[in-house]
Amino acid sequence: MSLTVITGGGRGIGAATAMRLASDGHDLVLCYAHDAQAAETTADRVRDRGVGCRVVRADVRDPDQVDALFDATALDGQVTGLVNNAGTTLHLGDLADTPVDVIRRVVEVNLTGAILVARRAVRDMVGGAIVNVSSAAATLGSPHDYVHYAAAKAGVDALTLGLAQEVGPRGIRVNGVAPGIVRTDIHAAAGDADRLRRLGPQVPLGRVGEPEEIAEAIAWLLGPACPYATGATLRVAGGR
Ligand code: NAP
Repeated sequence: MSLTVITGGGRGIGAATAMRLASDGHDLVLCYAHDAQAAETTADRVRDRGVGCRVVRADVRDPDQVDALFDATALDGQVTGLVNNAGTTLHLGDLADTPVDVIRRVVEVNLTGAILVARRAVRDMVGGAIVNVSSAAATLGSPHDYVHYAAAKAGVDALTLGLAQEVGPRGIRVNGVAPGIVRTDIHAAAGDADRLRRLGPQVPLGRVGEPEEIAEAIAWLLGPACPYATGATLRVAGGR
């Protein structure tokens, strides 16, 4: 039996991953921060595929809420997988013009949150796999957009590498996926609803990615078809 936690599982890449993993027979726990309606809608669609799905509100920045998320998961059985996906960009612009509270929040959600969730997951897991959702930004640097977000995601890549070596001997694999620009609400939420239309043609493959295309890579890294990769971050960015 597979029991997989997806942070940020209510919307975007997390929701597409939930649907993909449900098709593989994973029971799921979807964590969200604010949008309960989206999480419940995704959970209903997951249950329609014949698997169990629990919805938990937890802010990944708060270690007590992270503990509550995994305590709730334990009610359903032994956790076998984690998709460490919750993230936000919040704001676009030069670093010099980015408010300190935005920088703190972006680093806390994307990096501190990912570390706290991974820490609790490896305490609970006895084998299984983790996929951390990074970004192509980690290696592009994202000048004039969000260099602090890029720095946080570079930290996620280091988390993947180091944690994989710590927990490999326990039979837990840790990998990452680094998406390019993907069709979700994250861009409009940062104040640029036109970003997908504008940047798609600049991608070598000529278009933005779809959440389902990222979900496919996550499902592969998480599953039995990928037994020997660990510490790797797979770029799924259309050539960027
Ligand atoms: P999205 O559609 O905006 O969804 C973000 C998800 O993260 C939502 O479910 C949200 O919860 C959750 N979340 C945000 N802050 C949280 C917190 N403090 N605690 C718990 N959950 C929180 O974004 P997305 O595009 O799917 O992004 C998913 C991941 O992919 C992120 O790590 C992002 O950095 C990464 N990524 C995205 C792109 C892209 O172009 N879309 C590119 C590269 C990497 P609510 O639903 O409750 O708000």
